[in-house]
Amino acid sequence: MILGALEAGGTKMVCAIGNENGEITEQISIPTVTPEETLPKLLTFFKGKGIEALGIGCFGPIDLNRDSPTYGYITTTPKTAWQNCDIVGTFREELKVPVGFDTDVNGSALGEHTWGIGKGLNSCIYITIGTGIGVGVIADGKLLHGMLHPEGGHILLRKLPEDTFAGGCPFHENCFEGLAAGPAIEKRWGKKAIELAEDMKVWEMEADYIAQALVDYTCILSPQRIILGGGVMHQKQLLPMVRNRFKQLLNGYLQTKELKDLDTFIVAQSLDDKQGIMGALKLGMMELEMEEKE
Ligand code: ADP
Ligand code: ZN
Repeated sequence: MILGALEAGGTKMVCAIGNENGEITEQISIPTVTPEETLPKLLTFFKGKGIEALGIGCFGPIDLNRDSPTYGYITTTPKTAWQNCDIVGTFREELKVPVGFDTDVNGSALGEHTWGIGKGLNSCIYITIGTGIGVGVIADGKLLHGMLHPEGGHILLRKLPEDTFAGGCPFHENCFEGLAAGPAIEKRWGKKAIELAEDMKVWEMEADYIAQALVDYTCILSPQRIILGGGVMHQKQLLPMVRNRFKQLLNGYLQTKELKDLDTFIVAQSLDDKQGIMGALKLGMMELEMEEKE
């Protein structure tokens, strides 16, 4: 089966051709500019390749309600050129194949759940900590959507008293993303995150915020595993610090076999940063299966 996959990000669009086993045979990356400039380039890549379906993992917020007249649109994104862009409709019309659609982070969660370290689990969550923070949730073996899609990067956290940075989210200041995404680290400490690798107080604060969020997700969603990805997690010292702080904050409140071993409960992404594009392949496959059943 030949499938197309698109990981639509705020800075770049990753396009790939692959198969039902998650194997990618061809991949390119195109900068995200405006729909007028970028969409034709994406279409050129996918046309004539014989794909049976396309899956798109997309930056948001997006409309995932199939009953809505704007289903498949990018909606209120701060990237104004892309507001009200009918991304699914455009690809459907031009490529004439089923188009699966979800958030970029749900795509990554699906990639890990299908082919990675989340495989076989009934419930798990995937969190990306990069330019922004996003959370994709698998609950009862399926992606969780609710009324729209989870926006777990914007949960409100308890700010540390020694933290003098106001927080970078234009909507909430001290939400998880506002305090702990890559740009927040860089604004707080005045340097690129990668240049702060040796500075322990940077990562202690970061680990605290991440651990607070993980305690909240654990109490609300009761996942069997938490998978962490995104550029900030490339700091290898961070993961063990997050586990330690998580243990202190949860304070023994829950006792399950999963929580006995935090090395297997809180883990790093397992697909070499290809979880997003692989998840997009799966989104395409799922849409094809669904339309074949109808
Ligand atoms: P995006 O979120 O745009 O898809 P990334 O997940 O790579 O992309 O996240 C980019 C952010 O991650 C940047 O804000 C940068 O500060 C941070 N980042 C990238 N690489 C590293 C690294 N090695 N160490 C710490 N932070 C990093
Ligand atoms: Zn916010």
